[in-house]
Amino acid sequence: MKTVCTTCPYCGVGCGVIASSDGTIKGDPDHPANFGRLCSKGSALGETIGLEGRLLAPKVLGHDASWDNALDLVATKFSKAIRDYGPDSVAFYGSGQLLTEDYYVANKLMKGYFGSANIDTNSRLCMASSVAGHKRAFGTDTVPGTYEDLEQADLIVLVGSNLAWCHPVLFQRIAAAKAARPNMRVINIDPRITATSDLADLHLQVRADSDVALFNGLLAHLADAGKCDDDYVTRHVNGYTQALDAARQSNASDTGLSDAELQQFYAMWAATEKVVTVYSQGVNQSTSGTDKVNAIINCHLATGRIGKPGMGPFSATGQPNAMGGREVGGLANMLAAHLDIENPDHRDALQAAWNSPTMCTTAGLKAVDLFQACANGQIKALWVMSTNPAVSLPDADGVAEAIRNVPFTVVSDIMARTDTGDLADVLLPAAGWGEKNGTVTNSERRVSRQRAFLPAPGQARPDWQIISGVAQRMGFDGFDYESPEEIFKEYAALTALSQKFAKDLDLTDLADADYDGLGPVQWPVGGTDRFFANGGFFHADGKAKMLPLAAPALETGKFRLNTGRIRDQWHTMTRTGKSAKLGAHLAEPYVEMHPADAATLGVSAAELVRLDQKGIFRVLISENIAAGTLFAPLHWTRQTSSAGTVNSAVNVGTDPFSGQPALKSADVSAEKFGAG
Ligand code: SF4
Repeated sequence: MKTVCTTCPYCGVGCGVIASSDGTIKGDPDHPANFGRLCSKGSALGETIGLEGRLLAPKVLGHDASWDNALDLVATKFSKAIRDYGPDSVAFYGSGQLLTEDYYVANKLMKGYFGSANIDTNSRLCMASSVAGHKRAFGTDTVPGTYEDLEQADLIVLVGSNLAWCHPVLFQRIAAAKAARPNMRVINIDPRITATSDLADLHLQVRADSDVALFNGLLAHLADAGKCDDDYVTRHVNGYTQALDAARQSNASDTGLSDAELQQFYAMWAATEKVVTVYSQGVNQSTSGTDKVNAIINCHLATGRIGKPGMGPFSATGQPNAMGGREVGGLANMLAAHLDIENPDHRDALQAAWNSPTMCTTAGLKAVDLFQACANGQIKALWVMSTNPAVSLPDADGVAEAIRNVPFTVVSDIMARTDTGDLADVLLPAAGWGEKNGTVTNSERRVSRQRAFLPAPGQARPDWQIISGVAQRMGFDGFDYESPEEIFKEYAALTALSQKFAKDLDLTDLADADYDGLGPVQWPVGGTDRFFANGGFFHADGKAKMLPLAAPALETGKFRLNTGRIRDQWHTMTRTGKSAKLGAHLAEPYVEMHPADAATLGVSAAELVRLDQKGIFRVLISENIAAGTLFAPLHWTRQTSSAGTVNSAVNVGTDPFSGQPALKSADVSAEKFGAG
């Protein structure tokens, strides 16, 4: 029996797990993300490692093929598309499930060897607005704080986050801290009352997308109450006056909150020095997502409450390696090691380090645009890695049609059948969690190892090896990697070009044995735990920027549909769906609806409603959701439910800065279906 210390493959908390090949799973008491805790999903990992449904051999047009034949075909098709139509005729779409090493190799191939930046990822759906907000405010995508801040704060403000279900171990850490320190307070800001609200001293049931108005109101209150830190602002911040002037134009009544609720929130924030504002998809997945992020950061910059113990804005990332992916440039508008794609010096430095034949010169297609380019014929060869966009993207039926329109599609995945894999010309079997080695980075910048404790089944291979195999067949040097250690060290060396690892403990000097034994390590390695307490921002003048922000006009009309996760499932259920214990939580998709709306539609509990003429769902009537809004889980697919994917009924816009789709506020129609 083999037992290893590894990392949970689900959410961005990045809990340490002790896993054995007999399926025994325990929380790692020494991992600083969880100190031995696991949530229901992490605890059930042992039930998800069976081979049922796995893709065990390459397939070409539905038939088993050898690796050589499959990789030769992929290399030939991508080479031909680039030769005939140019580098922007091909695209990769990856996943926050990929390990940092996988992500790095895919980015290197697309950006430094194809010369295109058409590589995006489902992390675009997760934290792209946080990345854009960080870059606007700090000059770089850097999370200022740590998980410890969530325990040291006297006030936790949760915005757009059902932490209890979506980042459960962070929620447990806050709950334990609150139990130990009775003066600690929690405010939950969410249009829905959720399991997270149970911990809250104050729940603010705001209107969807009114966060900019709310935090603009807070900024004006802080200024009026004399709570801004003039010294910090003078020394470290630009844009204070303009941001405050804009904030004063906002109308906080747009939030739908009473004046008493607003004043209580403002007073609690103003009176508490140690405030951490934790935000997640309710902030990011919006057409004003980046502005919401900056509205929150503005309040922390204005008060100097950033980068100090128990203080700061904190983005809880959704996926296990959304952070690692963005570190190696896993988005269409980034380069590896936090280098900027728009900066010619950065591009030259990276090309020199890679000794690569070319380099992309402009940002590529972001997720939603990438599949539109598939639909309009621009993309001639597409490779989807470890994700299921035909279910998870908005307008899911349109995305499926767009993939069908691409002349050549490759899907590498652990599963033989997914809604996206069924559309592929070539299927490549990827090694899964527990079967491969590499690293992931969690929401607090902590790099942890994922370690193999099971053999890769059938002919499955790690993603970095599959990608390198194609690169070598296309005639490219620089992809003769023999191990993930080699890739990690190559990437770590690039961080000297930017600011990621401090030089006094540079991970580039790791021996292979050290990589194998690498414990969880937070970057900057050997440097500070937190950023920006004393300035040191990454804009050219070393100062942060506060942004002048206008609150968006809020639409009214049809229902506002909010899609999200439930406690015991993960994404499209390829793993969690294997656990009977997890399936017992909620066995089928549903739509949550306020009793007043149910009465208007004439629908009773457990009867059916149809959304936008597309999906038919059982209704869950609840006062926890505001009238006029709906909630539906995102996990079920066309293959796992006759209702199909809720994203078929979701057609939304994107944030203008981040390109993140507004999955929390789709306008949909709803009607009673059938006799019930
Ligand atoms: Fe895994 Fe997240 Fe649960 Fe931790 S909180 S065990 S990382 S799903």
